[in-house]
Order: sequence, then structure tokens, then C-alpha cells
Amino acid sequence: MAQEDIFKKLVAHCKEYGYVFQSSEIYDGLGAVYDYGQYGVELKNNIKKYWWDSMVLLHENVVGIDSAIFMHPTIWKASGHVDAFNDPLIDNKDSKKRYRADVLIEEQLAKFEAKMDKEVVKAQKRFGDSFDEKQFRETNPRVLANQKKYDELHSRFAQALNDNNLEELKQIIIDQEIVCPISGTRNWTDVRQFNLMFATEMGSTADGALKVYLRPETAQGIFVNYLNVQKTGRMKIPFGIAQIGKAFRNEIVARQFIFRMREFEQMEMQFFVRPGTELDWFEKWKETRIKWHRALGFGDENYRFHEHEKLAHYANAAVDVEYKFPFGFKEVEGIHSRTDFDLSQHEKYSGKKIRYFDPELNESYVPFVVETSIGVDRMFLQVISASYCEEELEKDSRVVLKIPPVLAPVKLAVMPLVKKDGLPEKAREIIDDLKFNFNCQYDEKDSIGKRYRRQDAIGTPFCVTVDHQTTQDNTVTIRYRDTMEQERVAISEIGKIIGEQVSYKKLFAEI
Ligand code: ATP
Repeated sequence: MAQEDIFKKLVAHCKEYGYVFQSSEIYDGLGAVYDYGQYGVELKNNIKKYWWDSMVLLHENVVGIDSAIFMHPTIWKASGHVDAFNDPLIDNKDSKKRYRADVLIEEQLAKFEAKMDKEVVKAQKRFGDSFDEKQFRETNPRVLANQKKYDELHSRFAQALNDNNLEELKQIIIDQEIVCPISGTRNWTDVRQFNLMFATEMGSTADGALKVYLRPETAQGIFVNYLNVQKTGRMKIPFGIAQIGKAFRNEIVARQFIFRMREFEQMEMQFFVRPGTELDWFEKWKETRIKWHRALGFGDENYRFHEHEKLAHYANAAVDVEYKFPFGFKEVEGIHSRTDFDLSQHEKYSGKKIRYFDPELNESYVPFVVETSIGVDRMFLQVISASYCEEELEKDSRVVLKIPPVLAPVKLAVMPLVKKDGLPEKAREIIDDLKFNFNCQYDEKDSIGKRYRRQDAIGTPFCVTVDHQTTQDNTVTIRYRDTMEQERVAISEIGKIIGEQVSYKKLFAEI
């Protein structure tokens, strides 16, 4: 099945099974804003716990905060967001659709990559085991021709971004003959900058209300609390501050479901280090973060690092962790070495000293910062994309979400075989015993087969069936989601079996 079709099915599945709903749906929805349903919120909470504990529990020198969404407007002047948090936009005059100029060019680059990958796959099939991919890529004329086109476009694009050259971005779109996917025409407007921050007013207008912004990133809440945390926590450099919270961006293009939203959630960690050591820490955090992703078992080949075409003015190193979504490799997390830019700017704008006295060096300095910044929603999409499977079975087929058990919204479904003979009561007893440890669900409606399919679709890793034998010997059938294997176990064993599979500790051991 084509990847786009899989993606469409996955979006429909998220709605049908209570994971994600379009916001304000009964009013025809609100663009790029989504609500999480009864299972979605559980998965989201589990993802957040995985991240939070991996930062705050596993690192003695990382602590968390929860700062407000509203902040003093000067913060966004100091951080550069008021003047420069822009995306280049372009409109197609025929379809009246709006696009991000940089994304149109990135998609063109991805097309060259896809062409090269297609040649590789074809050759792989032809040559079988003797296939040497590296040699093929270095010598095959069709691959080389596409690589040349890719390299030329890439360097021209990077240059245009670095020079902030909007005319050149438009010229690239024209030269590459990029068409609007809706109208199919090349009738483009000029490229313009568009600020992504949402603004609102605080206080009544009569007194001269203050223009405040909905934060476009959580990071600034950490920077402006650096001194508070360092002093009250008696933190010694190097140390980190972690935060999970909502962020808002008036994104130009709202497509691809929860990949790009106007209201979303970030998990960010700012790590404060001694100047001159930041690039070592950058490498360390790169490694730690990729391990965090890989520990989920979605396949190492589905991750890659992507170096930024353009470094933000404050950064001296930046890399994205990209995951292979059904619509291609895309960013899920950014790791940035932000130098002392933010803290120095806040020193300048607030007039307060934001320094660290380093007793080993016997001097004060503005710390440098390495940040890791990941979107909860993109991580959610990564988990769902990696877990969604359609399987042909002997007699029928099933849709199953093979979510890692530790992240699964419901861990255990308990099902009485029939609704009588004391089986429902026995099933409830099992739940009452386990519900303090795991999210359990009671299910007695429809045939057992149908109930299994329902739990597969939700992604429940374990189903326990209570039958007549249970009332005699206190054993049940436990059925495993991924293999569909079943075994007879004592009720007293269930907690242990599940406990081992859903423990965060197992994941943490791999980080
Ligand atoms: P992009 O290039 O895709 O717009 P970005 O580079 O602007 O993303 P950052 O500012 O580095 O993103 O934000 C850190 C993380 O926050 C991203 O890696 C992503 O996971 C998440 N994120 C950013 N913007 C959005 C959005 N509009 N919707 C959902 N998640 C987002």
C-alpha cells in the first residue's frame, strides 16, 4: 500500500479509536488544532513520563520547572522572536493556497533523494546478496546525476537561507519548476516573511493593555528562571533545567495531521555549561537523545541526524533527529548549541546580571547552553506511525497498534467468557487487584474474537480471559497482542508478567 494511503488510514484510526479528534469538530474544526481523546491522552502522558523521568530521574544534575505561558513581552524582544521568528511564505495565485517557500524546496530535495533510493532498491533486488550499496551510489550514472542535482540545489538553498534572500528563494522555486499541488501551476507570488507568534492583550484596553504573546517555545521560561533555579537549588555547572508545556505558533501551512499544529506541546531541556565545553556537551546530548528514541525499538534505520541548512543566529551547532514517517524523514527533535546568546540578551534587556561564579576557575561568566527540544505531538505521531500494522491472518485480517507496552494507554483488558456463572465478578476481582498498578479495562460485550480485535486496535498488549476453569483453579488465559499467542497462567502471576513488560526501567537501561 502507498505510504500516503497508510497515513490516511492511520489518521482515520486515531479518530475512530479515541486517540485524536479535530478540535471544535462540530463547528467544522479549527485548522491545525487537535484534541486528544481517552486513549490519546494516556499515550501522551506515558510519552511525557518517559521523557521527564529520563531527564530528571536519570540525571542528578537535571531538575524540572513549570513556567507560565504568558511572560513579559520584552522577553520575546530580547530572544529575537519579535523581530526574527519568521517563516518565508509564498502563495499560489491560482489555487490561493499558501506554502512555506523553504518547505517547497525541501520537498524538491526529498524528491531527488527518493529517486536515488529507488535506484538503490531496484539494484538491490537485481544483485541480491552481492550488492554493494556504497559502490553503487558512487558509480551508478543515474544516482550520480540526481546526487549532482541534489547537491547544487542544496548549496543554493542553504546560501539563500543564510543570506535571508527572499528573491533567491522565489527564483529557486521558479528554476526548479515547482508547481502548486492543488492548481498544478507555477503562478507564484513573491516570497514574504511572516511572524509566527500569536499576540493577545493583558489588562483592560482603557488602561492601555499590555500586548503579550502566547509563547512560541518553552525555552525562554527556563532562561528567565535560570538564576532562581541555580540559586535555590544550589546547582553547580554543568546542570540542566527541563520543562514540558504548551507552545503556540501561527504556522503558515497546516497539513500532516498533528505533525504541524498551531497549539502543541514541547519537552525541552536547557543544559548550562562552562564556555568552551559546549560542543562536547552537544555531542553527548546527541548521543543520549538518539538512544532514547532507539530504545523504543522502532528500528535504528528509521532515524537519522540532519544538519541544519542554516544555523540560527545564536547557534554554533545544531542537528535534528529525524524519523521516517509515512511521508518521509522529518524532524521530531532539535538539539542545539545556543551559546550564551539567550542569557546575555536577557542580561542586556533586563539590566540584571545573569552569571555563574565558577569556584574551580575562580571567575564569573554567562553560561553556554545546549538544548534538546522535542515535540510531544510529533513523538506521539512517531509512536503511532511505527505501531500501526495491518495484518492478514489465516481467516481474516486485523489492525493492530503495536505500541511498546510501556507506552500503551491500556495495559490489560480483562474479559469474562460469558456474562454469567460468576465470571464477571471474577474478572472484576482481577481488575480491582491490578488497577492501582496498571491501566486496566473490563470488556464483556461481543464474542471473545471481536473483543481481541478491539483491544488490538487500541494497542492493549495483554488480554486476560476468565472462563469456567478460572472459578475452579484460579487460572486464566493470557493473550499477547503482537504474537497472538495464549497461555494459561495463575491469576497471581498476571501482575508480574505485565509488570516486567511495562517497566520504564527496562527502557532506561538502554539509554
Ligand atoms: P519545523 O522546522 O518543523 O517548523 P522547528 O525547527 O521550527 O520545526 P523547533 O523550534 O526546533 O522546531 O522546535 C522543537 C520541536 O518542537 C520540533 O522538533 C518539533 O518536534 C516540535 N514542533 C515545532 N513546531 C511544531 C508544530 N507546529 N507542531 C508540532 N510540533 C512542533
